[in-house]
Amino acid sequence: MEKKWFYEKMSPETVYGYHVTSVHEENTGFQELQIVDHGHFGRMMILDNVVQTTEKDEFVYHEMMTHLPIMALARPAESILIIGGGDGGILQECLRHDSVKRVTMVDIDGRVIEVSKEMLFFKDAFKDPRLELIVGDGAAYVAGEEAQNKKFDVVIVDSPDPVGPAMVLFEAPFYKNISKCLNEDGIMVRQAGVPVFQAPELKEAVEHVQLSFPHVAVYRGVVPVYGGDMAFVIASKNGAPVDQPNGQFTGKYYHTRFHSAAFVLPAFWYDVTGLPME
Ligand code: SAM
Repeated sequence: MEKKWFYEKMSPETVYGYHVTSVHEENTGFQELQIVDHGHFGRMMILDNVVQTTEKDEFVYHEMMTHLPIMALARPAESILIIGGGDGGILQECLRHDSVKRVTMVDIDGRVIEVSKEMLFFKDAFKDPRLELIVGDGAAYVAGEEAQNKKFDVVIVDSPDPVGPAMVLFEAPFYKNISKCLNEDGIMVRQAGVPVFQAPELKEAVEHVQLSFPHVAVYRGVVPVYGGDMAFVIASKNGAPVDQPNGQFTGKYYHTRFHSAAFVLPAFWYDVTGLPME
């Protein structure tokens, strides 16, 4: 198979280049979807020319977006809502917790799910009987009675950057509705970009989430293909702190001593977010 260069724009003057072999390409009606193979990062999924996940470093993002909020809950988590997450990586990590009894996943793009089941590395997670899979808009789902009556312990927003169908997942009303879908001690988390390239995205995410949640914090993890030091915004509905784990869990990246450490941020992130440097 002939190799080609794929370039991802990280900023107006910056691109990351990958020498890849194309495996699959299609326009899903929502997004441009590509599956490629790369010598170092292995199999990669790309949406609208932005790398979403790679075989080599997916564990960092998926573990930090899953185990940290689950271990931050003051009791064993049982019910989880994933918004986006069509590749299946977040789902796989949620299902590693025996306490988890049900996972509802809402992704707008059925083709991302089908191609991921066929070509990516989280296939088995989609076969788990605890999964309720819904193809639809996540913002519409959390605004609905069904979700707000169902109530969840943890809501994980695994969306791409604020482009195309994902724009609504960055707006303030979305977080208000998430709060209505959570149990009184529930926790939500979302990715907030890589501040070295996307500081305004982090600032806006904190501001919007603070409109609907009494306690909002930021933690970090290093995801090479996303550009390095990535920010995650986490919030608790009842204002409880989230920086201490409620038990033991060890992944390939996340572990319980790393839980608290991840809340110690680079100095400039406090300027960006306005959060106190305690
Ligand atoms: N981890 C990746 C990142 O940080 O860039 C995101 C991975 S995941 C593949 C993103 C998913 O969000 C995609 O499958 C996409 O279809 C889904 N998505 C985009 N907009 C959505 C919406 N409004 N409602 C539900 N899912 C949405």
